[in-house]
Amino acid sequence: ATKSLLETQREIDSSAVAYPNDIPIAFEDGKGATVRDADGNTYIDMFAGIGVLNVGHSNPYVLEAVHEQADKFVHTVDFPTDARLELIEKLDEIAPSGLQGNNRVVFGGPTGSDAIEASIKLSKYNADGDGLIAFRGSYHGATTGAMSVTSNTKLKKHYAPLLSDVVHAPYPHPFRQEKTPEEAVDHALEEVQAIVEDPYGGLANPAGIIVEPIQGEGGIVTPPKGFLQGLRDIADDNDVTLVFDEIQSGLGRTGQWWASDWEDVTPDAMTSAKALGGVGFPLSATMYKEELDTWGSGDHAGTYRGHVVGMRAGTRAIEYIQEHNLLAHARDLGEYIQDRLHEAADETDQLADIRGKGLFIGAEFVDENGAPDSDVVDAIQQYCFEHGVLVWTAGRHGNVLRLLPPLVLTHDLAETALDVIVDAIEHVTA
Ligand code: PMP
Repeated sequence: ATKSLLETQREIDSSAVAYPNDIPIAFEDGKGATVRDADGNTYIDMFAGIGVLNVGHSNPYVLEAVHEQADKFVHTVDFPTDARLELIEKLDEIAPSGLQGNNRVVFGGPTGSDAIEASIKLSKYNADGDGLIAFRGSYHGATTGAMSVTSNTKLKKHYAPLLSDVVHAPYPHPFRQEKTPEEAVDHALEEVQAIVEDPYGGLANPAGIIVEPIQGEGGIVTPPKGFLQGLRDIADDNDVTLVFDEIQSGLGRTGQWWASDWEDVTPDAMTSAKALGGVGFPLSATMYKEELDTWGSGDHAGTYRGHVVGMRAGTRAIEYIQEHNLLAHARDLGEYIQDRLHEAADETDQLADIRGKGLFIGAEFVDENGAPDSDVVDAIQQYCFEHGVLVWTAGRHGNVLRLLPPLVLTHDLAETALDVIVDAIEHVTA
């Protein structure tokens, strides 16, 4: 059954569809942190739809509210509903400390890219300037503005002109830059400072800085402490809007509500999507300080920025995380997973760097000469698939094994999954 579904997909679907070619899986159903394919094989899901399914596949507590809401009505545009007000209040409750109580929310369309577009427009609308600072290794989405702030030139080369006033600064990546954590932070911040303040630095009129507090697609690149606060200081000194893109790193993924909570740094604006729709409903939001709430009515519009069912699902998912203490669970389980990976790294020089927080984990692989090695990661992914574990990859060289399981992953399942992953590493690097 899996084979025929995949063959049909290849025949009739867009060539832009992205799934690893050697991972032939077609989903039949999912529960918690496991999925079944169309032939009845079960897998432990260690990627959760790229960090969407934080409360697990088809979480029954969330679905109860989804069914109730769907039976009433599904769509209203911007009209007030309980579902909408409830989620705005919930987001305020869990917002970074400096946003709580003065947090505004503009819901986007279905994708993270929509929220990024809103954050770009918001930064420009509130500034004299129109320049944006983003970072190397970043991924912010597939629409024009989001592509402009994304750093991967391969993804943008056919689409000029994109937004012109965007400069990419280095993101602190001590391992790849061969720097100490302090050096990596200082280097990145000096560059940002120069771009903002130096007439020869790159931007005449900076409006915003947009940054992932931990880079996702870039390879779970986890900046050392001090980077986000440094950006906060530069933004304050120069009156530019600081935007944190928490689309992949947010909503409990790192064992805090937001990755920026680890440093207790509050942005001026923040994007969320992916896990925001609870169990996979498409929903995004940009949250921002009340001072930036200067748009007139209708100045930033959208038909689907009020998906009522998605909002119900989002609120229930946050409640579920709160009631089941999943932030603490994600921190504990994350430590366990990183410990297991460090044990594996003791056996091979090819596992060269282990990064991340909570259940947002990356393991970077290199060849004998220390160069990025994506073949090894592809082979590990394949081995894991054949042994019932789904893992994902990341990194600008495709050489990072990415683990972002549902936060509801139990310790027992994590142990089983890590037994397979460690076997895979041993097998492939032997
Ligand atoms: N920002 C980040 C940090 C992301 O990881 C992604 C998606 N991987 C996006 C933005 C874009 O989200 P979407 O694919 O929903 O447009």
